[in-house]
Amino acid sequence: IERDALLRKKHNIHISGSNVPSPLQNFAELSSRYESESYLLCNLAELGFKEPTPIQRQAIPVLLSGRECFACAPTGSGKTLAFLSPILMKLKRASKDGIRAVIVCPTRELASQTTRECKKLGKGRGFNIKLMTKELLKSADFSKMPCDILVSTPLRIGFAIRKKKLDLTRVEFLVLDEADKLFELGFVKQIDSVVKACSNPSILRSLFSATLPDTVEELARTIMHDAVRVIIGRKNS
Ligand code: ADP
Ligand code: MG
Repeated sequence: IERDALLRKKHNIHISGSNVPSPLQNFAELSSRYESESYLLCNLAELGFKEPTPIQRQAIPVLLSGRECFACAPTGSGKTLAFLSPILMKLKRASKDGIRAVIVCPTRELASQTTRECKKLGKGRGFNIKLMTKELLKSADFSKMPCDILVSTPLRIGFAIRKKKLDLTRVEFLVLDEADKLFELGFVKQIDSVVKACSNPSILRSLFSATLPDTVEELARTIMHDAVRVIIGRKNS
């Protein structure tokens, strides 16, 4: 417990919530503590990631423990990996049971970047990771394609939901990434429809953001119940 507090202090990790799991000392703990399969550690090494960033140290154990996560850390601090690695670990392997994870990113650029990172991190595991493109939206048998993880902008996923092109009732993980930007760009209605469409009662929702405006706090309060809040302080504050 004392060791956890010291590690958090060292990395400027601020938490609130009950029973917050210990932060990661290193990536190797993904296998020693959480029985990660070796492909993930190999892929992390291949990407040149030696040490987890502060947000990764705390958010990964939170999500792996099955807790909702409300995370705030500056731009460039590695938030993508902080939600991708626990999702890949929890999904374990590819399946044909429908979409099990949805990641909503504010822009097409961010959505395609996130898809690329997810594919690199999941390499060798056969996961079906799909970016919701215009072409994909138009294709007739979109809903029959195997897809474990779907990455989309709010407009595209909102449109697909409206047109009843997507079955999101089996989604186990929903990530709202760059939540502050989702609001800035005015995607409240779309976010609402995604949250409603992901109707699995045991869904794990998480929210990642670079800043914490009232709109984001409010969304966190409405869609999450027993979330762990993880805030990474800037170096000089
Ligand atoms: P954020 O979403 O917080 O703005 P990103 O997830 O886009 O940040 O990550 C920023 C950069 O840091 C990316 O190029 C990513 O590949 C890299 N990165 C992520 N995690 C690590 C790590 N543990 N070690 C080194 N680089 C990392
Ligand atoms: Mg990001």
